[in-house]
Amino acid sequence: MRLQKRSDYDAVLKEIAGRVGRLAPTGAVADYIPALARVNPDQYAVCVQTLEGGTCTAGAADTRFSIQSISKVFATAMVIAKKDILLWSRVGVEPSGNAFNSLVQLEYEHGIPRNPLINAGAIVVSDELLELYEDPKKTLLHFVRELAGDESVDYDTEVADSEYATASTNRALAYYLKSHGNLRNDVEAVLDLYCHQCALALSTKALARALLFQANDGIIPSSRRRILTEDQSKRLNSIMLTCGFYDQAGEFAYQVGLPGKSGVGGGIVAVVPDVLSIAVWSPRLNEHGNSVLGIESLQQFTSLTGLAIF
Ligand code: GLN
Repeated sequence: MRLQKRSDYDAVLKEIAGRVGRLAPTGAVADYIPALARVNPDQYAVCVQTLEGGTCTAGAADTRFSIQSISKVFATAMVIAKKDILLWSRVGVEPSGNAFNSLVQLEYEHGIPRNPLINAGAIVVSDELLELYEDPKKTLLHFVRELAGDESVDYDTEVADSEYATASTNRALAYYLKSHGNLRNDVEAVLDLYCHQCALALSTKALARALLFQANDGIIPSSRRRILTEDQSKRLNSIMLTCGFYDQAGEFAYQVGLPGKSGVGGGIVAVVPDVLSIAVWSPRLNEHGNSVLGIESLQQFTSLTGLAIF
């Protein structure tokens, strides 16, 4: 079934919100970042943004949450936009099949992270951003504001500080990268940028809008500004499809069939190329660090609408 009208999407989202609302709660909020451990676990929102400019929501779609690893897509886009594929000598494009913060894989692979959507890879991306942009923290914020069409998007500094203060594993990854010559800047400067990007706070509505350019061959539909070439945009979607959910990437592709990205704040965003973007937020996570109801909702969305890439 191909949905065309706004009311069609509205009805589908209401149906999905109703169905997942009746499920017994499973999973837990991320508690290794103290500020995230305090989030009410039973919040929910879903939003579809169509290329034509339609917005459909169910739940608390204006409530902001920490997008965490979803920011890795925006940071990677900022590097790809400047360097095309040159980065891939420092970071691979293979699925990791391991936890997002795995140290052991980085050791086996001599300090070259598998892909830019796991922590080690994103830390290298932050290192690149520090060289490519004069004020990367500010540039990233403005970039995400532009993509989301929302000037009020900001860093949640409480989350950034909380993560920075407790980032022992990410510090270990960064020092390990440095010992292999794969981190050029000061570890603390890289981690400060990395922790801020993870602490970007967006509503489900803003998040869906922020990734809409990836449903549109790299062009922001509302302003028609090109962010990535068609080829670069294709590659970024491919990385999301194969690596966006860490050691659950295969299952997400199998259940949902869309390129997407998750974060331990409970958000997931995905695109149906040439049609729409969809964001879901529910803070309870499974053992892979992915939102339980987020995955369930997206699986239902593609099954109900037939809108998957396969
Ligand atoms: N900021 C988190 C971390 O570095 C991001 C992890 C995630 O969202 N999967 O651990």
